Amino acid sequence: MHTPGTCYKASGRFDAKRLTLFTLTGILFAVFIGWLYYILCRINPITFLNFIILGLVSFGAAILCAFIVGRCQCRNETISNAIPVLLCYIIWSTQWAFFNLHWHYGYSFWGGILNPLTTLKIINARANQVDMYSLPYGKGLQYIWYTAELAAFLLVARWVNSSKTYFCEDCADYYREAHAHLLDAELENFHLLKEMEGEDHQYRFLPQLVFVKKLTPIYAERKPVLKVTLHYCPRCMRNTMVSVSSYMQDIDSSNKSHTTLTKKEPITEGMYIAKATADALIRKFA
Ligand SMILES: [Zn+2]
Repeated sequence: MHTPGTCYKASGRFDAKRLTLFTLTGILFAVFIGWLYYILCRINPITFLNFIILGLVSFGAAILCAFIVGRCQCRNETISNAIPVLLCYIIWSTQWAFFNLHWHYGYSFWGGILNPLTTLKIINARANQVDMYSLPYGKGLQYIWYTAELAAFLLVARWVNSSKTYFCEDCADYYREAHAHLLDAELENFHLLKEMEGEDHQYRFLPQLVFVKKLTPIYAERKPVLKVTLHYCPRCMRNTMVSVSSYMQDIDSSNKSHTTLTKKEPITEGMYIAKATADALIRKFA
């Protein structure tokens, strides 16, 4: 059991065999998605609409990255964060490896995918070719588009890496998530009780508060909201963690029952709580 009051830290452990297997599988799928991107861009008759294809392919990239990172079960954050960057880069570079084949540039196929220098040479050759055929847009615009493309894929990797996932190493399973909100007087009570309990509060006071599971839209004025999130292992129910962040709830100006939360400010991130507190909260949040 982790000591209540301490915060989650990835253990750094990973299974090398599992990591290699799923990373290689991820690379193969990334090459496939890159090929799909190349084909779709080639058959699309309106070049200016390529950004729609880019959006769709980025969505595919996000699904692939989230799936592979999940399967790798790697508790080393540096390696875990590097996997989506590698996969997204390969999706981007693969299209160049196929262009290289299509235009007979003569560079090595895998070099085009894995060696950034070769990829750059292919891009240069392509840009020169575009210039040669004097298409309606110039070389400069081409380079801007190629860079924007790479940036879009790397943003996907960043997004995948920013979503926090906790993992129970005893059960080899990912944590589940449940959340509820504190509003108005209960929000004040939260701060008061936290202050009273002092440094070692361990969030023992949380079960006393009245939570709102689903927010209702507001129309008059924005208001502060406190979101309490529980992360628990569905198998052993041990080592439950709590995260608390303050937000502002926006007015539902479009009248579509939106309860958008903005201005996130984390108060606590992934703190272990005692089993009694956890059980009481899970019952409240369920
Ligand atoms: Zn567990």
